[in-house]
Amino acid sequence: MQITDSFSVPDYIEEILARFEDAGIAAFCVGGCVRDALRGVVPHDFDLCTAAAPEVTRTLFSDHPCIDTGIRHGTLTVLWDHVPVEITTYRVDGDYAGHRAPIQVQFTDSLFLDCQRRDFTINAMAYHPKYGLYDFFDGRTDLIKQVIRCVGDPHMRFSEDALRMLRALRFSSVLDFDIEEKTACAIHENALLLTEISGERITAELWKMLCGTRASALMTEYTDLIAVFLPMTKDAPADARFQKETLHRIYSCVTDPTDRLAVILYLSGVRTHEAICASLKRLKLDHKTHDKLVQRIHDTAQPPPGSRYEVHKMLSSMGEARTKAYLIMRGALYPEDGAACQKAQNDLDEICRDGGIVTKASLALNGSDLLHLGYHGKEIGDMLAFLLELVLCGTLPNERQELYEKAASLVTKKPE
Ligand code: ATP
Ligand code: MG
Repeated sequence: MQITDSFSVPDYIEEILARFEDAGIAAFCVGGCVRDALRGVVPHDFDLCTAAAPEVTRTLFSDHPCIDTGIRHGTLTVLWDHVPVEITTYRVDGDYAGHRAPIQVQFTDSLFLDCQRRDFTINAMAYHPKYGLYDFFDGRTDLIKQVIRCVGDPHMRFSEDALRMLRALRFSSVLDFDIEEKTACAIHENALLLTEISGERITAELWKMLCGTRASALMTEYTDLIAVFLPMTKDAPADARFQKETLHRIYSCVTDPTDRLAVILYLSGVRTHEAICASLKRLKLDHKTHDKLVQRIHDTAQPPPGSRYEVHKMLSSMGEARTKAYLIMRGALYPEDGAACQKAQNDLDEICRDGGIVTKASLALNGSDLLHLGYHGKEIGDMLAFLLELVLCGTLPNERQELYEKAASLVTKKPE
């Protein structure tokens, strides 16, 4: 990979660094922003590290709002013209309890020690526009070689904080990098330590990992690690589709992370509502994501619609986005349904183009019209459903007069 040796940082970062410099205090850009800028990608944010204690940083930036992001860990967020910039005091991690993040940290004035506590060599570089790159662990070479390698002994690093194993998969997936051999072996050997990590932290890394280009390869290569929080994936290899190349083909069509996870659960034979809920227990998903997963798995089990009418019916009940996602997932998981899904997709495009999707709510006749005609209670919903059916199968146009006449001809009681 081609990488640069120096890069410019945004003006506001220059200004913050200059303020530290004027005060005679060391401060650098560090971590993800250095990694990304070196490989020519514009960083989504700039994290800084400094020799200043948090209270010194706070005083230095007292003319700007400051948020105590993780004051115990030395992190302050300075809002510089509304842009949040995380500034963390150089630190050495103290004791780790239960293979999780350290209980205590000690501040230090050594940039080297601050870089040494970081997870991977490519994430352990610091940069100052005036002083250049500080790369104590050869992260630059690993960036060129495209490898994820732990800073220090991988066994020790994973034993300190087991989440780092999943982070290794996340960076490998997103950056399309290999995981260096010793780091990879240590993941397999320490996989069970991930049990100690909270569902929230696992979910956050898993979601990022699922978005990456290597997600399919990693999901199939690191089944031991994945099974710690998705135990049913142990059964997935029974499905021939849970195989690197096949999953890769499926993921090339299915790109949304929730849908990608739905594919994994589906291939693991998780289909019923109870089974889905049980398998997701270890993750901490918000309700919306949880429901979307359940929906996707149920949808995928249905055969594709066989006619334009069936496509419209599906659209009417599921909506456009969900129907589209279903057709993609079904077609990817069942190549034998590929042609039917493609045809349904064409029908869907046509329906959306001419006239749009008709639902109960968009019928040209509504509940009050039916009430006026003499319909009551449940009859109203039933009649709307019936009229919708007639419109979807093309017997009636979605026009008020025609629907009104039909409803009037079928009313049993005349209005009083
Ligand atoms: P992204 O672009 O996704 O934000 P990032 O590298 O900035 O990537 P973060 O999770 O934001 O990743 O972490 C910021 C930095 O903090 C990392 O680059 C790394 O140096 C360090 N870091 C984060 N989590 C850990 C961890 N669990 N163990 C050691 N170092 C970590
Ligand atoms: Mg970051």
